[in-house]
Order: sequence, then C-alpha cells, then structure tokens
Amino acid sequence: MSLPADLHMHTPLCRHAVGEPVDYARHALAIGLSEIGFSDHSPMPLDDFDNWRMFDRQLDDYVAKVRLAQREFPQLTIRLALEVDYLPGHEDWIRRLAARHPWDYFIGSVHYVSDSWDIDNPAKLSEWKKRDAFGVWSAYFDRLAMAAESKLFEVIGHADLPKKFGIRPAQDCTPLYEKFLAAAAKAGCAIELNTAGLRKDCKEIYPSRELLGLAFQKNVPITFGSDAHAPAEVGMDFAGAVALARTVGYTETTRFNQRQAEAAWL
Ligand SMILES: [Zn+2]
Ligand SMILES: [Zn+2]
Repeated sequence: MSLPADLHMHTPLCRHAVGEPVDYARHALAIGLSEIGFSDHSPMPLDDFDNWRMFDRQLDDYVAKVRLAQREFPQLTIRLALEVDYLPGHEDWIRRLAARHPWDYFIGSVHYVSDSWDIDNPAKLSEWKKRDAFGVWSAYFDRLAMAAESKLFEVIGHADLPKKFGIRPAQDCTPLYEKFLAAAAKAGCAIELNTAGLRKDCKEIYPSRELLGLAFQKNVPITFGSDAHAPAEVGMDFAGAVALARTVGYTETTRFNQRQAEAAWL
C-alpha cells in the first residue's frame, strides 16, 4: 500500500521544530512516501505577536530551504505551503502572503480563539480552567467555519484541536461540527487527518471519527498530515489514518499543485 502525501510539516524557523527540510525529505523517502509538503507556521503582521512562528523577514529563507530540498531530492514531490493562522480581520494580510510566493496550498488553522489565547499552547493551559469548555469549543468552531468561508485556504488544519489536552465539553458538539463542515463543503475546502493528535494528551487523530464521518457525508475532501516538528515524525501513524478514513467511507485523498486540487486514490 502506498501512503498518501504528508502535507503538514515544519522547519526550525518556527522556533519549536528541529531538522532542515532536506532531513524531512530524506526521512520521507526512507519510509516510502512519494510526496510531501512543507507548511510551516506563517508570519503574523507583527513579529512579536507570539514566539512560535517565523519572522516576516524569514519568509524568503523558508522558501529557499524548501527549494533546496526540491533540488536535493528530485525523486520526491515536494510542495511549498504555509500553515496560516486564521484570525478575523487578518484576511488582507493572508491575501498579501499568498501573493509573495508561488505556493502550492495554504493550510488554514485556528489556534487563537481571541487575540491573546492560543488554546493549544501548553504555557496557557491554566486559561482552560477559567472557562467553560463548551464555550471554548463553540468559539473555536465559529472561527473554523469563518476560516473555511474565507476561501483563503485549500485545507483546514487539525479540525478539532481543542481536544488536545483532553478537555472535552459534556455537551454534544455535533452541531458545531455540522456548521463548520457545511461551510467547508460549500467553499470546497478540504480537512486534514492530522496524526499529531496521537502524540498529545487526547491520544487521537484530529479530527475524531465522528467529525470525519460527518465530513464524508458532506463530501468534504481530505488530506493527510503528520504535523511533523522533527524529521522522524514524517508520515507517522499514516497507516492508521488511512484505515480511519476508509472506515468512514473515503476512497480518495487530495493533493495540491499551484493551488489546484488533484484527487488521488487512497
Ligand atoms: Zn508547530
Ligand atoms: Zn497547527
């Protein structure tokens, strides 16, 4: 069985990953992948917004590192992308980022439910204790629907990220998933099966089987991503992710070339 493309991986420019793109590419070939894509954390309009992304002035260095990997490993398809934070009001900034290089795709991710709280940041875990979990999940999925509706992204990243630390609301979240997925379906936006969740407290792929099953019913396309922050994480747990996708009915995955989607058999 050939594994799908790993479209979510990082570089040291984001200040919390190790290994150069050439090292990720070498590992991808060693485990039999034929396609990968770099999607490091994009710059923000102000460099001091937080401390877990590249600086704006490093965007060209990032592209150069990916181009170097492409030259070193011509037998591997290597895509150029970004994981871009979606915050309401950032749309023009994101459009300007899109115009700066010939990207293959953008992953739109919601980490921030306000301008100051990135819900997956372990240093801010105490914020969860101050709030009602359902309120946080609702705010997160509202922003995720807005990200899909913006049509700025080919893929929506780790669609149920609020489960990262295992803090789950008692309420039924199905209506939150439905609203987001309707927006994704309408916009023609894919969601990713992100295996990094298996390495977090939630010990589960993002998104859950329930959310993925609803996505299949609504014809939302899927991609696969390890969210690798180290070369050895490339393609990690992909066999299980493919099995999960097949279980809910998927037979195709999606890849991107110059922001055009291409379906591939799973
Ligand atoms: Zn990261
Ligand atoms: Zn992310």
